[in-house]
Amino acid sequence: MPNTSSARWVSDGDNMKKQFSLLGYETDVQYAEDKSDAQASQIAAMIKNGDKAIIVGAVDGTKLTAVLAQAADADIPVISYDRLIRDTPNIDYYASFDNFRVGVLQATYLVQTLGLKSKDGPFTIELFAGDSADNNATFFFNGAMSILRPYITSGKLEIPSGQKAFAKVTTAGWSGDVAQARMTKLLAQDYTSDRLDAVLSPYDGISRGIVAALKKDGYGTKSKPLPAVTGQDAELESIKAIVAGDQGETVYKDSRELAKVTVQMTDALLSGGTPEVNDTKQYNNGVKDVSSFLLQPVSVDKANYKTVLIDGGFYTAEQIGN
Ligand code: BGC
Repeated sequence: MPNTSSARWVSDGDNMKKQFSLLGYETDVQYAEDKSDAQASQIAAMIKNGDKAIIVGAVDGTKLTAVLAQAADADIPVISYDRLIRDTPNIDYYASFDNFRVGVLQATYLVQTLGLKSKDGPFTIELFAGDSADNNATFFFNGAMSILRPYITSGKLEIPSGQKAFAKVTTAGWSGDVAQARMTKLLAQDYTSDRLDAVLSPYDGISRGIVAALKKDGYGTKSKPLPAVTGQDAELESIKAIVAGDQGETVYKDSRELAKVTVQMTDALLSGGTPEVNDTKQYNNGVKDVSSFLLQPVSVDKANYKTVLIDGGFYTAEQIGN
């Protein structure tokens, strides 16, 4: 798994371990703390150790080509977990969510919250994308832009910073601090007279950095309300922020389900069966189309967090604090 600093990867690791052990497998879960070299070394050690299958949530989807060639030489099947590993023929399957749809959901929330279908605007927006080394970041961004672009073209949505190409809006390491610094800079440069109405943010940790910058700049009062800010992963801190009205939305991806799919895939591979897939077109990793199983993400805001997250057993009401 990529790191322990984002809550989702820790529960992904825990969930897979639990489900593998129910099937009688032993699991070695390693976290690379966002260092791609460390991740390659961890995989090399697993190969040496004689592990029977390897599941990788990549730190950098382009930096595993050499070590995965070693896995192939040792006949070890590899499953690309959540993030597509690129530039190698040596991954067998991909288990993830519909990543394009994640962006569609985020942008749809902004369109609805601003009332873009009925109001003339113009409204202001700033765009944030994830880490460029993560294949998902492009999918999230393209999904969002498929919804936002017509409003940007027609002038209903304005981007005062002018920064709208993916390469201009990425956030190194998916870091909240990096996002906070960029938001602070944009507010100082481009919002001396304009008010910011919406922020496309791809991930909860980034969203919280953005909201921190906005609050420091005086947003969050009756006369200067916070813009609508999206997110992803339904992290507990962000659900609390949604309840408090600081963050608008997040995209929930049930990692228990992803773990289940991945464990079933692995078990099928190891017992001579064929893993179930439901998408074979969308994901080409630069070398081949990778057979994929994609789960559906769900948009969560103040209106539905109780039904989706509490009734769904992801958090308790006590954890969220209501
Ligand atoms: C995952 C997201 C996560 C992001 C940052 C992406 O690859 O799909 O769930 O928010 O990485 O960790």
